[in-house]
Amino acid sequence: MSVFHKHNVTCPHCAAEVELDVNFSVNADRRPDYREAILDGSFQVLGCPACGASFRIEPELSYLDMGRQQWILVKPARELDQWEDLERMAEVIFEANYGPSAAKIAQELGAALNVRVTFGWPALREKILLQDLGLDETAVELLKLALLRSDEAPPVSDSLELRLWDRVGDTLRFAWVNADSGEIAEGLELPTEALSAYQPVPPAWSEVAARLTAGPYRDLQRLMVDPA
Ligand SMILES: [Zn+2]
Repeated sequence: MSVFHKHNVTCPHCAAEVELDVNFSVNADRRPDYREAILDGSFQVLGCPACGASFRIEPELSYLDMGRQQWILVKPARELDQWEDLERMAEVIFEANYGPSAAKIAQELGAALNVRVTFGWPALREKILLQDLGLDETAVELLKLALLRSDEAPPVSDSLELRLWDRVGDTLRFAWVNADSGEIAEGLELPTEALSAYQPVPPAWSEVAARLTAGPYRDLQRLMVDPA
């Protein structure tokens, strides 16, 4: 079931407090159009009843795609420094729905799900895209980390994140994305073959890979952002 609630939101354009239907739970098996809208960036872009301007409400939801084995707790980008607490929260929520105290059928379904935590729309989009393209999540994060450490990387900004954006033919397209606005600042391309250097994980990267995959927040930012 996909769940909407009326929610009071402050319009970023006119500052009016408006009541909008906000989605707190996405079931991609029942609503594949929601998954498509997350991929194309139109999901939860809402119109302000006061001034008519449209804006996107930050994600605060659980995302379930049983068919693709994804269960993701999605939080606003501004809560990134809470990642350690939110990993625990994700585990508690997941356990309540699919753990030993849940119905047997739920437990069986839950056993197939991969639990993740993400922050902001671009990060959720990337997780859905990675699954869609059949790319190895850890290899992609390690490749991004190598890009960040290279001289070619643009200066790291607090609001910019490096996200896999697309694959066209044999080319992976990455983008520097503003986590709040979703705007792309800059793009870069690499051959898909570049991932093979990290798959399997080479010994020199094994310690970093272990830290990356230590919990449901599988993102290179967990290596950079100290939990609050
Ligand atoms: Zn407004």
